[in-house]
Amino acid sequence: MGSILPGATIGFLGGGQLGRMTALAARAMGYEVQVLDPEVACAMRPVASRTITAPYTDVAAAEALAAECDVVTLEIEQVHPDVLDAVARRVPMRPGRDAVYVIQDRIRQKTWLAEQGFPVGPFVAARSAADVAGAVEAFGASIAKSTHGGYDGRGQVRLAEPAQGASAWSALGERPCLVEQRVDIAMELSVLVARRPSGAVAVYPPSRNHHTGGILTWAVSPAVVSDPLAVEAQALARSVAERLDIVGLLAVECFVTTRGELLVNELAPRPHNTFHHSERGADTGQFEQLVRAVCDLPLGAPTTVTPAAIVNLLGDVWLQGAAPDIPHALQVPGTRLHLYGKAGARSGRKMGHLSAIGDTPQEALGRVLESYRRLSPGTVASFDVTEPVLHPPTS
Ligand code: ATP
Ligand code: MG
Repeated sequence: MGSILPGATIGFLGGGQLGRMTALAARAMGYEVQVLDPEVACAMRPVASRTITAPYTDVAAAEALAAECDVVTLEIEQVHPDVLDAVARRVPMRPGRDAVYVIQDRIRQKTWLAEQGFPVGPFVAARSAADVAGAVEAFGASIAKSTHGGYDGRGQVRLAEPAQGASAWSALGERPCLVEQRVDIAMELSVLVARRPSGAVAVYPPSRNHHTGGILTWAVSPAVVSDPLAVEAQALARSVAERLDIVGLLAVECFVTTRGELLVNELAPRPHNTFHHSERGADTGQFEQLVRAVCDLPLGAPTTVTPAAIVNLLGDVWLQGAAPDIPHALQVPGTRLHLYGKAGARSGRKMGHLSAIGDTPQEALGRVLESYRRLSPGTVASFDVTEPVLHPPTS
């Protein structure tokens, strides 16, 4: 099967901000886009020529989507495998069922990574409150994570002692969960890999990421790290993508520990929040790259054109007393505003982001954080937007 050319229709399982931004890139290249999402007012709706409102378990609805599409991709990993199979019987499903199946369950994903010999921190699959307590006994400070549906730190419980095992077990719905040792993190990195059906890959330079309370606060690219660490992270991510035989995008979230080890935290088979800066700083942004990969077009270069950074805008920005001061924020040189068109601002909900470019990663990050402080002085205290010193490479 050859390239799927502009004029064709790309179907999306999931129409949140990731789908919306990919759809905009697809439209810019002349593709039609359709979407299936459980929410009537999903963020992609205004961009799609057809929106099917159905859950990610609805095989008939997925077949209806596939019937009018030439290829189907996804922006969320929580899609039932039967739905992925049903699509694949009609049109190419990219990424395919097997890669998504491994990734969509946290226990399955971590176990697979460990079995394949990829570096991960200590973890256990807990199947009872006693298992959770036992893990904390062995690990000390830990995090219990639900197997499905957790994101932005939701579905996670932090534990300090075994006695908290029972309450964590019930908080996670008394279902099997992953318990990880809490790693001493020096730095969080992610690497994005794009891969075509032929196996051709493009690997982006690592992004440096900062989370507050389990939610991504900012990301900057390229990460200011030593060349060997950047090369190691890119090789690791490429190797995971190849082992999964993924077609589309794979984001590999990593921890660099205070002891200097590089560990895989988790995988995502889709565009990733930590690569929103690629639209500003990379030769090819992640959304266009996904379109190219799933349509089997030549991948664009992932190389850095200019350092770039983003800061997330959560619903809190709209919920605190004063309205966000958009004109003041956009006075900062190099900044842009990206809003996802979501109606209901809720605390912790991702509503948009600010981006900035600069001559250096430090300048790009400094600008976007300054823009944020101007936009929303009222949320600065609860959202860690103090500007860090990005350490220069040590070799
Ligand atoms: P997202 O969807 O935003 O990527 P998530 O809800 O899928 O997040 P994780 O990536 O597992 O959850 O965790 C979110 C953040 O919590 C991590 O980026 C990291 O800052 C912290 N964290 C997660 N696991 C650990 C760990 N084992 N040790 C220390 N910190 C951790
Ligand atoms: Mg994560």
